[in-house]
Amino acid sequence: MSTPIFAEFPSANQQSDDINVDTCRICLELLSMKRTASHIPCNHKFHRTCVLKWLESKNDMKCVLCNASVSGTVDEGGTRIARTYPFELRNDELMEKGTICPVDHVQANITNCGYLTLGLNKERNQAVKESKNQEWIDDIEQELEKIRRRSEAAEEYFQFILEKKDEDDEDKSDSEESTLEEED
Ligand SMILES: [Zn+2]
Ligand SMILES: [Zn+2]
Repeated sequence: MSTPIFAEFPSANQQSDDINVDTCRICLELLSMKRTASHIPCNHKFHRTCVLKWLESKNDMKCVLCNASVSGTVDEGGTRIARTYPFELRNDELMEKGTICPVDHVQANITNCGYLTLGLNKERNQAVKESKNQEWIDDIEQELEKIRRRSEAAEEYFQFILEKKDEDDEDKSDSEESTLEEED
């Protein structure tokens, strides 16, 4: 029986074929239970949400099985999955430091969350139509929930930037006024 990846790292020389046939090496459940995703270029397959969580918890993009540098992750249809970040943490840090990111970046994040939600909802409806098991549906809903949190965090950050900009503008006009007064 296989052991959890967290307890024992398989060596990079180990044959990938016999250790990664039908179970997700991150959670050890059958791959067929949920949606899957594969890494490029090593082709190692995991549950989609498991591997996204794993990548999010690391700063480097390495395959948990073979330690290869991951240049991308694709879903069953071969479509590239966007690497997702734990935005809520990053935004908290940025807000604490008072850092302002370009507004269009934040807007792009919010828009992207919208697209991801649309796609996942479609996927969810399709899964229900195909009578996939509950675990499969829950898996999609878990990802939907994560996107919802990300979107909320992005919008919160967006508000923060707007308020910060207003403050800066006020400061600017204040100093302009005082310069004028001095000139008089
Ligand atoms: Zn898994
Ligand atoms: Zn690999």
